[in-house]
Amino acid sequence: MTRQLRVAVVGAGPAGIYASDILTKAELPEPFDSVSIDIIDRDPTPFGLIRYGVAPDHPRIKEIIKALHRVMGHEDINFLGNIEYGADLKLEDLQQFYDAVVFATGARRDRALTIPGIDLEGSFGGADFVAWYDGHPDVSREWDFAPHAESVAVLGVGNVGLDVARVLAKTADELLVTEIPDNVHAGLSRNVTKDVHVFARRGPAQVKFTPMELRELSHSPTIDVIVHPEGFELDEGSMDAIRASKSQKLVVDVLQNYLAKEPTGAPHRIHIHFCQNPVEVLGEDGKVVGLRTEVTELDGTGNARGTGEHIDWPVQAVYRAIGYYSDTLSGLPFDQVHGVVPNDGGRVLEVDGSPLPGAYVTGWIKRGPVGLIGHTKSDAAETIRLLMEDVDQLVAPSEPTHQAFLDHLDSLGVEYTTWAGWEQLNEHERSLGEAHDLERERVKVVAREDMVSISRSR
Ligand code: NAP
Repeated sequence: MTRQLRVAVVGAGPAGIYASDILTKAELPEPFDSVSIDIIDRDPTPFGLIRYGVAPDHPRIKEIIKALHRVMGHEDINFLGNIEYGADLKLEDLQQFYDAVVFATGARRDRALTIPGIDLEGSFGGADFVAWYDGHPDVSREWDFAPHAESVAVLGVGNVGLDVARVLAKTADELLVTEIPDNVHAGLSRNVTKDVHVFARRGPAQVKFTPMELRELSHSPTIDVIVHPEGFELDEGSMDAIRASKSQKLVVDVLQNYLAKEPTGAPHRIHIHFCQNPVEVLGEDGKVVGLRTEVTELDGTGNARGTGEHIDWPVQAVYRAIGYYSDTLSGLPFDQVHGVVPNDGGRVLEVDGSPLPGAYVTGWIKRGPVGLIGHTKSDAAETIRLLMEDVDQLVAPSEPTHQAFLDHLDSLGVEYTTWAGWEQLNEHERSLGEAHDLERERVKVVAREDMVSISRSR
């Protein structure tokens, strides 16, 4: 007798959607005649970090949503949001309904930075700031822009550091044309930042920026980008890095252009400093009043060592953008050092190194929080290839239907959202945008209960 292959994908970001797409195209051996995929997410909406991680002034990246929309519309794929794996459901619950579970839960939290003063008032995680300006339902509606914080430090020279620096330096009205919710526009209007100091602990050839994002930094008429010459070192290791990567060479070229440019006198400035390792956030009365860095020098291998010389920078807020970190997942082992679920090509591995039957990972939870959105495609291809290799040995679920799973959610009282519900919310957000004086493409709804009730109406 033939039957459906039932797969749960936990996480409706690009990683989970790409994995689902590949799965719908996989050749199924007997006894499977078709595949049925339920993509589960704790957000009431699909698209993960595209909705809640991409900066609002990057609509080009959000275009990816159009392609992901097409995948989610596939008849073999169901979206189920507002379900929290670990709280509402555990692995053994999912195993009742699915042959296999693919975890694509990504990374949302800030990687910890253990330097003195990091917990002072005015010291923030970049990921938290991103979640706030992108209107994530689970973060506070208010952002604590101190009324005196005219100078701000951003730690880390990756694209998140650039996003954070740019949003801090732009005016609220420049961002009003985007999809930012009203509370974010109101919050940004209270931001008095004039100087954003971005710190790299190594040199210009070691930054993680990508060329286009770095170039775009100067497109705002209200921002001057100032690259400081101190620490702008290109040693032999740097020359090797430039020769090895066209993208890295372009990044260094853009930095050199900024270095040579005279400031225009714009009201806001983004300063980029090299070879400055943050060692302490300085405080007074529990609040940030500065950042202490140790000057570093390149060691010829691409790394940097401390020189023992320190500089204190008078800043009133510090944002660390030193990388994301994944949440642990109930029932799965976790590698604390790398912040991933231990796996072999996507097959989850138990502590003793043996595969955990029927459990797979893909995306940032598999390989760590690096790489652009498109990189998760090859990741997903590898994971699904291994799932298909194992398909004969998967343990058949006792209740192998979509309806049985929905009934289970109802019995738990989980107010899940669906793809049809997302289409309603999508339409609603677009109508809010259209009704706005500036005819914006969309205005995001923020409160979880509002998102759920709009999605579940009708
Ligand atoms: P990232 O690219 O890994 O950058 C992290 C930065 O933090 C690096 O410069 C790193 O320096 C620095 N850092 C780490 N530990 C530090 C410490 N203890 N002290 C000082 N600096 C420290 O991470 P990300 O910016 O979170 O981005 C994650 C991924 O998302 C990346 O692939 C990124 O391109 C992508 N993304 C893309 C966009 C876009 O617009 N295209 C936007 C956002 C994110 P070292 O190199 O010295 O460790």
